[in-house]
Amino acid sequence: MSLSSGFYLYASRYRLLIPAVIIVFSLFFAGGVYAGFTPEDSRVPGGVAVIKLPQKGDAPPHVFFQKKRVFTAKQDDTWYAWVGLPLSLKAGQYQAFWRTKDGDKPLDFKVTDKKYQEQRLTVKNKHVNLSTEQLQRVWRETPEIRGAMDTFKPVIHPLPDALVQPTEGRISSSFGLRRVFNGKPRKPHSGMDIAAPTGTPVLSALNGKVAAIGDYYFNGKTVIVDHGQGLTTLYCHLSETEALKVGDTVSAGDKLGEVGATGRVTGPHLHWTVTLNGARVDPALFLEK
Ligand SMILES: [Zn+2]
Repeated sequence: MSLSSGFYLYASRYRLLIPAVIIVFSLFFAGGVYAGFTPEDSRVPGGVAVIKLPQKGDAPPHVFFQKKRVFTAKQDDTWYAWVGLPLSLKAGQYQAFWRTKDGDKPLDFKVTDKKYQEQRLTVKNKHVNLSTEQLQRVWRETPEIRGAMDTFKPVIHPLPDALVQPTEGRISSSFGLRRVFNGKPRKPHSGMDIAAPTGTPVLSALNGKVAAIGDYYFNGKTVIVDHGQGLTTLYCHLSETEALKVGDTVSAGDKLGEVGATGRVTGPHLHWTVTLNGARVDPALFLEK
């Protein structure tokens, strides 16, 4: 008997069992594994609105904010939406939408203002203005990086009880810092910097899949991990990256690379960005206090 006919015999005998196994498996991943952590509820620009949902059952709810699907997690039999609030959001009343069989139901919440610090710097123009070649490189790389971060894959990776701080070191609370170079406003700081010596291990904060790995003009050596449902993390300025490729599975705590000073930086540190539904949010909200 050949191997393949053996397989078909096996498959037909277990024809009913296989779908049952798949159903049990998907229920487990859809419902039972969500006992993990939750970010701090902080309804400010650059924050996360953690909104309780009235949905019961194990199928993940469909929630949208500004037309983008939002991360949902189940804890103690209750579903929550983790709505990422862009730094550019103005204070005011907002609505997310919970999709039900009877139509979209609004989820109202209020965003209050937050004054992030401002840093004014005078720097030589050659450090601010890019050459044509540098600009072309940045234009080529930006869609690749954005595409890996601003995505929604309906994939559920089990949440650990706590998020892993990606590297040991001095944490700056510089997320949202508004930088003004030579009087011109630049993009606000989109992540958290952790100062550590070159070579300090950098670990994946959560379970997920490698979404991008490369050496980019601004970010230097970089790994982006997709944790499913629009939650992604970016680790950059690394001195070395592990031998990973796009699509590789990583677990929380797996080594992605080592702290460095590659890209446009002045000294070794990890720049760590957390994105939810396309919004850069404050990574400090995900770390245990
Ligand atoms: Zn940074």
